[in-house]
Amino acid sequence: MARIVILGSGFAALSAVKALRKQGYRETLTLVSPKAELFFYPSLIWVPAGLRSEADLTVPLDAYFRRQNVEHLAAAVTGLDLAAKKVLTGAGEVAYDYLVVASGSRFIKKLPGIEHVHIPCESYASVAAYGDRLRRMEGGHLAFGFAGNPNEPSAMRGGPVFEFLFGVDTLLRQQGRRDKFQLTFFSPAAEPGKRLGEKAVANLLAEMGRRDIHTHLGHKMKGFGENSVQTEGGDFAADLTFFMPGLTGPAWLEGSGLPLSPGGFIQADETCRVPGVAGVYVAGDAGSFPGPDWLPKQAHMADLQAVAAAKNLLSDLGGRPERHAFKPELVCIVDTLASGVLIYRSPARGLLFKAGLLHWAKVAFEKMYLAQYR
Ligand SMILES: Cc1cc2nc3c(=O)[nH]c(=O)nc-3n(C[C@H](O)[C@H](O)[C@H](O)COP(=O)(O)OP(=O)(O)OC[C@H]3O[C@@H](n4cnc5c(N)ncnc54)[C@H](O)[C@@H]3O)c2cc1C
Repeated sequence: MARIVILGSGFAALSAVKALRKQGYRETLTLVSPKAELFFYPSLIWVPAGLRSEADLTVPLDAYFRRQNVEHLAAAVTGLDLAAKKVLTGAGEVAYDYLVVASGSRFIKKLPGIEHVHIPCESYASVAAYGDRLRRMEGGHLAFGFAGNPNEPSAMRGGPVFEFLFGVDTLLRQQGRRDKFQLTFFSPAAEPGKRLGEKAVANLLAEMGRRDIHTHLGHKMKGFGENSVQTEGGDFAADLTFFMPGLTGPAWLEGSGLPLSPGGFIQADETCRVPGVAGVYVAGDAGSFPGPDWLPKQAHMADLQAVAAAKNLLSDLGGRPERHAFKPELVCIVDTLASGVLIYRSPARGLLFKAGLLHWAKVAFEKMYLAQYR
């Protein structure tokens, strides 16, 4: 019996489990991740307003794994032995015949003074700490920004920063204290969020204008002070800074022998195979994939890549020649706490649609998505 091992228990890893089962594969699957949990990052945006607790966003997976005949090893991967087809983990070695890498990405934390800013997207605790600090402030300067990976421009995550920005603005208005704060949005890009589409950038910047949110755009980042953001285009005051650095691949990839992209991700092809490494597939944020320049690092994209990886794995296992390419597709609702903007992009078309109900559509999607794993 071939042994299939999946690394990670996030969106891509669980979608790979789901897709393998949907394709009729019934043997035991082995999944390696630090905890048998799915953490639902998209709803972190509602934590500063006190609308979600840690338990709301963390789905224990023990029951799901039992239902799906998945054997979970609670461990962190530390490397690979490609020649011996073994995964190296803190809890020993795991042999594989087929390997799906879905262990996500990490932030680049190189800018001087980065210890002064909040990178709230790493965990529930960090976003909760941001919310606590905001509640205690009587007024001041709030800054929100994101940057990219200079070696791989697509490796950035801007969408949630817009959501935190508009969400905090809405929250302060609901609390009747917006006039005590100055909000500034910053990015080294002159057209931040360009991957969402030209229309989306114009729409988001116009929304900032309507909300009296200042912008500081197109200046290379120099670093952060205790109460400032420093750029080549000048510094500005920031008592509380929310910053989303650029992304790079997991640290354990170094020395793994897998081919890496310029930005430090696993190089994959459009079928999610790793070229030159038989039996290894990658899905989600851990990979670098060919596609349009707007190809997002998103949960939705991770899900689509995992389906392609699972289908191609089973083709290879069955000795069949099929090649399933993932569909490049960007879908997101940029939430503002009271309304939302739906943005859709595929190679054939783009769509932007704004409505109050979209906030509730995002809430409904969260409930539906998580129900399948509960
Ligand atoms: C605040 C926020 C809002 C977002 N909003 C949206 C949204 O609205 N829509 C959307 O589509 N996307 C959104 N995203 C992006 C989305 O969350 C990511 O693209 C998605 O999580 C990527 O899925 P993944 O499975 O590749 O990685 P992850 O979800 O990061 O999962 C990685 C898994 O690997 C495990 N792991 C890590 N290191 C190791 C190791 N060494 N060994 C073994 N396992 C390991 C982790 O524990 C985890 O289980 C948002 C992200 C953030 C931060």
